[in-house]
Amino acid sequence: MTSTLDQITAFKNEAVKDFSDPADAAAMRAALDAVKDGFGKDYPLVIDGKRVETEKKIRSLNPADPTQLVGLTSSASKEQAAEAIEAAARAFESWKRSPPEQRADSIFKAAALLRERRFKYDALLVYEVGKSWSEADGDIAEAIDFLEFYAREALRYARPHPVVPLDGERNEMVYIPLGAGAVIPPWNFAGAIMAGMTAAAIVTGNTVVLKPSSDSAIVAAWFVDLLTEAGVPKGVVNFIPGSGSTIGDLIVSHPLIRFISFTGSKEVGLHINELAAKPQPGQKWIKRVVAEMGGKDSIVVASDADVDAAVEGVAVSAFGFQGQKCSACSRAIVEAGVYDQFLEKLKNRVAKITVGNPADPKNFMGPVVNEAALSSISEYIEKGKREGRLIAGGKRVGDSGYFLEPTVIADVAPDAVIAQEEIFGPVLAVIKARDFDDALRIANNTEFGLTGSLYTSDERKIERARDDFFVGNLYFNRKSTGAMVGAHPFGGFNMSGTDSKAGGPDYLLLFMQAKTISRRL
Ligand code: NAP
Ligand code: MG
Repeated sequence: MTSTLDQITAFKNEAVKDFSDPADAAAMRAALDAVKDGFGKDYPLVIDGKRVETEKKIRSLNPADPTQLVGLTSSASKEQAAEAIEAAARAFESWKRSPPEQRADSIFKAAALLRERRFKYDALLVYEVGKSWSEADGDIAEAIDFLEFYAREALRYARPHPVVPLDGERNEMVYIPLGAGAVIPPWNFAGAIMAGMTAAAIVTGNTVVLKPSSDSAIVAAWFVDLLTEAGVPKGVVNFIPGSGSTIGDLIVSHPLIRFISFTGSKEVGLHINELAAKPQPGQKWIKRVVAEMGGKDSIVVASDADVDAAVEGVAVSAFGFQGQKCSACSRAIVEAGVYDQFLEKLKNRVAKITVGNPADPKNFMGPVVNEAALSSISEYIEKGKREGRLIAGGKRVGDSGYFLEPTVIADVAPDAVIAQEEIFGPVLAVIKARDFDDALRIANNTEFGLTGSLYTSDERKIERARDDFFVGNLYFNRKSTGAMVGAHPFGGFNMSGTDSKAGGPDYLLLFMQAKTISRRL
């Protein structure tokens, strides 16, 4: 492949596929068949460029039909995880010296390869995590966006950064990489977050061990191979699938690990943060932890809102990808004046949601990711039936795949369990607010602070919410999901994490440190 650097244009978001276009729909069907034909393949660990098979395996099942084995990966032992970290630390010595243009070039090439293989990756996500065609394609489009965006950002950070001139000296400040780090992504944006965190770390000159989520290790295995094809040298990305509870602590506490880039639940994020804070024998630095965590996101519907638009925004935000997004709306907070009208319309809208195997594009909702999720969400639904009034859903669909109905529970108290804890499934609590002040107070009453939306036609309410709605990503008159790389730098407050603002201009700084160099003239 030739260099892509001489053709760099301004960053633009990748268009999502329109599956009403017969050509795109046909391409997607062909990809679904092709990926299915490849089911059951076994993917090794990759340590220092060497492919390592283990006896122990992680089995990736299709949550729509758990009798289908999508594929297997090897599963790293603690010793293998340590070897991978040592390999990353060795590779850092040369990768940190590689020209930033070379590193950016390989990430641009990776974006080009991902674009070529778009439908196959889309199809894999349909099977591996139960995404609908559009949700899968949105995930891969976002992965491409992250690669394109961070490669450009790395080139920007590589340019000189002016400091205040001082007579008799030449002063400069440069950004250098941190070292060998751990990338620990979740399964819910199995393409985008995994690829984005990995690319951001390596394009800035770091090396990594990538420990994928055990629910989405196959897509990560594909991506690691793709990076090699794109020219990323051995040792720069070491691939170590393995259960977080078995190898997680070893990775996080290893003295050669310089940073941990984590996205996942609050519980695991806090545990990592605590463990990483304790220096280990031989460790020379304070580890940097970037932890993006859960959400309990609200959409506030004001009495002056366009209720139809609000109902649509709530339904899509709450039930897209079965509510398994950190940005999913899990609380609709509705002013008393439009409460009954909102509920009636929402009930009708939710009745139209189709649930079933996402390989069939007529289904809007697919399964939840695994059996543990099915039972934990089902417990929340039972709790919700006691805490409020069930107005839609509430039951499992079928008995083989992990399908749940879109579930709406009304008249929920602001401090109820289902109004406070992240459920991470298709369960929406609707809360009645006395007035707008009450609605904002309720919106801010959780420990999280990730996304939030307000539907209103009142400028004063918009102004109030700009100041007082305490979330990292605030939206007006639109859904709370679907942040776009570049346009909506993403990350939350409080227990939603370190507010890293992925896909924004500050993100790469988290993978670098600045060095100031002064020379007497
Ligand atoms: P999770 O259970 O916390 O797992 C995330 C990752 O951490 C997985 O790779 C997991 O591996 C690993 N892990 C588990 N225990 C570990 C340990 N002791 N040490 C190191 N790593 C460990 O989260 P998830 O279920 O994958 O993802 C859903 C969560 O992510 C939700 O809370 C959601 O809100 C959040 N999320 C947040 C954002 C954001 O930007 N704020 C974006 C997406 C998702 P195993 O799979 O092997 O356990
Ligand atoms: Mg799976």
